[in-house]
Amino acid sequence: MMKLIVTLVLACFTGSTFAAEPLFDFPKLADGRDIVTADLHTHSIFSDGLVWPLVRVEEAVREGIDVLAATEHLEYQRHEGFVNSSDKNASHSIAVQSAEQANFHDIILVNGAEITRNFPPGHVNAVFIDDANKLLYPLSRQNLDPAERAINQENAMRALAAAKDQDAFIFWNHPNWIPHTPNGIAKPTPMHEQLIADGKLHGIEVANGTLGESYSEEAFQIALDFGLTVLATSDIHGLTAWTHDVGSGGHRPMTLVLARRTKDSVREALFDGNTVAWNREDLIGIEENVQSVLQACLNIEAQEYLPKSAVFSAIIRNRCPLPFTLLNISEFTFQNGSDLVRVLAHDRFPIEIKTGERLSEFLLTFRVLNTQVKPRENATMIFSLSGE
Ligand SMILES: [Zn+2]
Ligand SMILES: [Zn+2]
Repeated sequence: MMKLIVTLVLACFTGSTFAAEPLFDFPKLADGRDIVTADLHTHSIFSDGLVWPLVRVEEAVREGIDVLAATEHLEYQRHEGFVNSSDKNASHSIAVQSAEQANFHDIILVNGAEITRNFPPGHVNAVFIDDANKLLYPLSRQNLDPAERAINQENAMRALAAAKDQDAFIFWNHPNWIPHTPNGIAKPTPMHEQLIADGKLHGIEVANGTLGESYSEEAFQIALDFGLTVLATSDIHGLTAWTHDVGSGGHRPMTLVLARRTKDSVREALFDGNTVAWNREDLIGIEENVQSVLQACLNIEAQEYLPKSAVFSAIIRNRCPLPFTLLNISEFTFQNGSDLVRVLAHDRFPIEIKTGERLSEFLLTFRVLNTQVKPRENATMIFSLSGE
């Protein structure tokens, strides 16, 4: 028995023997693009995380995460006395090397860094960089001293300029973080507006998993106002399985990138804003992107009138790994239940629609309650049904 356990543990850490079914498998979009799962904000022991980079990679592979970025704090090394973290690329380099050894060939590993500054600008991630060491500028902890504060901000601007020089995709982390924003209401400063105008800030986290799965309506509004890409990230420090209850159906907050499953295509889609944030059961993004995902996830099958009746029987099918909560806002009511319809992940839900008389075709319209296309505004899903 002990031998078996040792073998299993070894297999787990070499990664060579498992071929796990991804937990989060999404169908393709109608236009042929993939729904690529990405986590662009993670930590390992090379900053203040608690695991070795390979563990970060393996948990992502097991969960079906397609794109994983290592984004260690540049200026904050919690395990400094024990881990040599002077090379700021170490986390990514080890991830790449050990992923190869473990035969994890499909996962796309991205180099990144978290520029960790007082507010403003706060914490900012740069991903798709070549060399994190070039983003490192001194940070004084004496931030209350106006002179030190000015130097800190100047150095933050240098770090962001270095990131831009490497064509990085740069985003504002947890803009609703209480230590930086005590009322929890994200608000851009003139410095942020300037960074956006200078092409040094391209995205914003609307959800961040390290803050107890926080979500910020205000961050979403900032994304809409300034044309920033919408992101959800785990910002994981421990294990995603523990933090987000993955074994019981939970998941880390992640970004769904509407792209082909290649590094270049994902990078391009991020700059183009082709993303949907997935946090808890919610899909958050601009209307066009959320609609694309909804069209891929939900469809109607097996539709016909019940014999000798004007009651139309149909089945709503969900091809995605998250449940959908739909509110019927069409003119018709249902024979088999109320207006609230919940289609579980990869499941089907039967509905019987009372159309009054037999119709050759009609529309069935739902509000999708677990989506947001603007703060506090849901997407609408319209199914076109045919009675013949
Ligand atoms: Zn941070
Ligand atoms: Zn972080």
